[in-house]
Amino acid sequence: MIQEEKEEIKQVKMKDIQAKADEKKCPVQKSLVFVDEFLAGPMCGRCFPCSFGSYETRIRIKRLIDGNATDEDIETINKICSHMLVASFCKKGKDTAKYILEQTDYKEFSGHISGTCPSSECVAHIKYVIIPENCTMCGDCLDACKDNAIIGEKKKPYLTGYLTFEIVQKRCTKCGECIKVCKYEAIKLVSAKEITEKKAVGAQRS
Ligand code: SF4
Ligand code: SF4
Ligand code: SF4
Repeated sequence: MIQEEKEEIKQVKMKDIQAKADEKKCPVQKSLVFVDEFLAGPMCGRCFPCSFGSYETRIRIKRLIDGNATDEDIETINKICSHMLVASFCKKGKDTAKYILEQTDYKEFSGHISGTCPSSECVAHIKYVIIPENCTMCGDCLDACKDNAIIGEKKKPYLTGYLTFEIVQKRCTKCGECIKVCKYEAIKLVSAKEITEKKAVGAQRS
């Protein structure tokens, strides 16, 4: 009975991990949450395929999230997890490998190599930008930004010649507070890749 109870607790823990990972939309973020929670809890370190595999997989997943990954990282994640699935001593290691392998099947997973995260959950792959035509220069975003990443001057009725509000990307921590307060749909979340490509085209034309 005590053994059964222990098994149940272990099962619940793995289920909880999956539930937490499933709260994310991005398959790479789901994988990171799963492996992080697994490493922090149930992973006991008794067998090499699971312990080494989980740590190594995490390193590769982080590279995808940070925008530093290559095709080789995805190949390695697949290889490691396939090995974990077969050679791990217990179901916990196998379940972890299975979950991550399922995520790698989504095209959004490999899409991170080219700098896209369609769910906008990986901050290295997104940027907040201000659409000048929509901006009324109310200054609400300026007040909301705790990182001093927005430049611009609030509109005063008796003055003219304002500069458009702008987000200084180097300072922006992607917290998303500005977009919440803008009532004029003047702040947009875009793919970081989209901006880089536009800049490159602009540079070629000039
Ligand atoms: S597969 Fe099981 S026994 Fe092996 S390290 Fe992972 S949790 Fe421990
Ligand atoms: S909150 Fe919106 S409209 Fe107001 S200054 Fe910022 S971007 Fe412009
Ligand atoms: S996302 Fe956060 S840090 Fe970036 S400009 Fe908006 S409020 Fe500032």
